[in-house]
Amino acid sequence: MSSELEIGLYIFMLAGFLGYHIITRVPPLLHTPLMSATNAIAGISLVGSLVVAGANYGPFSTLLGFIAVTCSATNVVGGFLITDRMLKMFKTSADANAAKKNTARNVIIVIAIVIAAGLAFLFWGMSQGQNFGTVLHQKFSDHALRYSYIISAAMFILGLKGLSSPKHARKGMFAAEAGMLLAVVGTLFHHEIVTYQWIIIGFVIGAAIGGTMGLRIPMTAVPQRTALSHSLGALAACLVGVSEYFRHGAEIDKVVMTALGFEVVIGGLTFTGSLMAAAKLQELLPGRPITYKGQNIFNFVLLAVIVASLIYLVIQPGTPYLFYVMVGLSLLFGLLLVIPIGAADMPVVIALLNSYGGLADASMGFVLMNKIQIITGSLDGTSGFLLSLLMCRAMNRSAFNVLFGAFGKLEVSEETQALEAKGSVRSITPDEVSTLLDSFRSVIIVPGYGMAVAQAQHGVAELAKEMQKRGINVKYAIHPVAGRMPGHMNVLLAEANVPYDQLYTMEQINPYFPEADLALIVGANDVTNPAARSDKNSPLYGMPILEVDRAKSIIVLKRSMRPGFAGVDNELYYDSKCMMLFGDAKQSLNELFGALKTGH
Ligand code: NAP
Repeated sequence: MSSELEIGLYIFMLAGFLGYHIITRVPPLLHTPLMSATNAIAGISLVGSLVVAGANYGPFSTLLGFIAVTCSATNVVGGFLITDRMLKMFKTSADANAAKKNTARNVIIVIAIVIAAGLAFLFWGMSQGQNFGTVLHQKFSDHALRYSYIISAAMFILGLKGLSSPKHARKGMFAAEAGMLLAVVGTLFHHEIVTYQWIIIGFVIGAAIGGTMGLRIPMTAVPQRTALSHSLGALAACLVGVSEYFRHGAEIDKVVMTALGFEVVIGGLTFTGSLMAAAKLQELLPGRPITYKGQNIFNFVLLAVIVASLIYLVIQPGTPYLFYVMVGLSLLFGLLLVIPIGAADMPVVIALLNSYGGLADASMGFVLMNKIQIITGSLDGTSGFLLSLLMCRAMNRSAFNVLFGAFGKLEVSEETQALEAKGSVRSITPDEVSTLLDSFRSVIIVPGYGMAVAQAQHGVAELAKEMQKRGINVKYAIHPVAGRMPGHMNVLLAEANVPYDQLYTMEQINPYFPEADLALIVGANDVTNPAARSDKNSPLYGMPILEVDRAKSIIVLKRSMRPGFAGVDNELYYDSKCMMLFGDAKQSLNELFGALKTGH
């Protein structure tokens, strides 16, 4: 084993352990920003892509490098912007009243000026003649590049460390952004880069797409944006791997071929798998699991063929046809892996694919012997893996069940059964709720996926404020897997200016339910289903739930008696304390707010 490889493996392991310790300290409140932050940091694949796009490796490699630069730049710019947008929203009640500071905007302006100056410098350099890269190399040696990578790595770690508290999270992210800038600028001086034309065009296109997504995408669409950017990051890694194989082919040694094989296989399957996840979350594809007979066996056989091809290629690197077939099969495997998984399980899939994307990046680091990519790939891999484990634990399901269980698949007969009334259900009107609220002193609001669908977070926040004005104590109960992403509800409520000190985790809030006058459930279903505690036959059995049934009264805002993602009826709705306010949550909240204001 070469000493470079040995050092690389040490770095990979240590970064993984460090990542584990830092990421376990990130509170559930910040799990969604954590996903987009690691996604932005994983955009470090940009540094490898820059070299491929700018070096003189031939037109095919330049084309692949150009696409990889575009994808990575989209992730870096989009990922950091949306993370900052989210983090800006998290405020305590005290912060909400304090004067706004413009530090963030100032830092962004400084970063933009540095990038613009860098680009202007490169343009000037290109106009000076062909050998600009050589001149740069003479002036700024490779040592400068190495040092810039060491500082960047430290800044990325500080950035993730900042996410352990909403107070320091933005500062941490600025450190990570500065680290990324340093790594990218340092790479521009790489001795193999001889032209900047494709780098600049790719970067500008990527920054424009990422910038638009980062600034404009609604918070309700964050899960699908995250999936989409994992797919772009993985595509970049896969393309750089293909370019490296194309360049070196039969000359590749066994160790590099192993890393390169991992890079293209994991990159390929993560690319198509994440695309499928994004399409399911965006409802471009049906959210229900799509299954067929023998699916799991077929997938396992396909995976076995891919692994066998990889082993053969390590022994015989000079078999290009097999290499390209293996890449094609990996792309197919990603599609087939995600098709049978239901939309609500996509967060686990996204987190797992995030972790795979990290591994693809780290493999790319091994192929290019780029240590900063090994570090960030390892951090990204650990983060995704930990988040998926946390989600599985919160649902009391195994990762195997999520990936291969086709959970949430309703057979027609079951669906009919689920819709059959199991007792009498009491419905209530907004005016009646308003009258009831007059006698309540404490209310716990329980948001769920339906709040995101209805985009009702602002309505919830307005109603809560109105109740608080009337002296009612309001708390929010956040289940770790409510919605379609870990921390999804926290981000939406933060967007609606709900101070995060009013948001309680499941463990914190459950003891409060027995004293609450009302549990007001807004579009949550599975996470409140008491069958998870009592019915051994329920697919939800064992999942820790929000104990809303212990509150003195319960009001549920949803459109119908249809079940939630798990496809099981909720016995809560037949509880004598429970009243159903049927209708779109946003509409119902508007009417309820109106009734409260007019004093009905
Ligand atoms: P849920 O069980 O999927 O239920 C959402 C409810 O919202 C539905 O019953 C639906 O009822 C209602 N709804 C939909 N659109 C609405 C609208 N416009 N207005 C009002 N109500 C609306 O959601 P959940 O309680 O948040 O549970 C999340 C599920 O996702 C769990 O099964 C969890 O295991 C799974 N999951 C989540 C994650 C994560 O990270 N968040 C990860 C993995 C799995 P109607 O159709 O009758 O309106």
